[in-house]
Amino acid sequence: MLNIILMGPPGVGKGTQSELIVKEFKIPHISTGDMFREAIAKNTPLGLKAKEYMDKGLLVPDEVTIGIVNERLAMDDCKDGYLLDGFPRTIAQADSLKNLTMKLKRPLTHVINLECDKEKLITRIASRRVCPKCGASYNLISKRPSVDGICDCCNGELIQRSDDNEESFKVRLQSYEEKTLPLINYYLHERLLISVDGLGEIDEVFSRIKKVLKR
Ligand code: AMP
Repeated sequence: MLNIILMGPPGVGKGTQSELIVKEFKIPHISTGDMFREAIAKNTPLGLKAKEYMDKGLLVPDEVTIGIVNERLAMDDCKDGYLLDGFPRTIAQADSLKNLTMKLKRPLTHVINLECDKEKLITRIASRRVCPKCGASYNLISKRPSVDGICDCCNGELIQRSDDNEESFKVRLQSYEEKTLPLINYYLHERLLISVDGLGEIDEVFSRIKKVLKR
């Protein structure tokens, strides 16, 4: 059973590695960032609320975020495993997740912390492109689409995320350092944390993750 959290700073490659993990291990990918972006695209009340925070690089309030994860994790497809990408990001979220996974009898098995030098992150963020139609993620340096500006999966037109600019990035990194970094100690204490070097080619990083998950 693989009940995984994938953690790491903005731009470290959580989204890209998550796509590979869920394909390999056939478990659902639960990305709070993707859930918010979907809600924004559909103009739902949740989307309008999340957009206020996301565009500034701020975290969406805990009660909103915890609510959507509680609903999603209780769904039937998570009974044989799941991958959480971008959640939890605060101690309050981690506490609530602990209670929920206990209640659902779906306890965490691995918390993977992807590590990368701060200086490399901004370059990765600036070269990231995403498909707003299907959510696929590309990188102009390390994972180019076959045709410039077009999604390989659905032919959608690739865009830059509205929060992938230097100003938002600085705020995101700061909130990561203040609110999310304490989770490293939290999960060390829970004996679940495994740190993986996030530097290198996509396949190299994925091999490191696979090794950890198959151990
Ligand atoms: P991501 O796609 O994981 O980089 O998330 C994009 C943005 O969505 C973040 O900068 C936050 O504004 C918001 N977000 C995603 N996950 C969370 C979370 N667990 N808690 C609060 N805000 C979140």
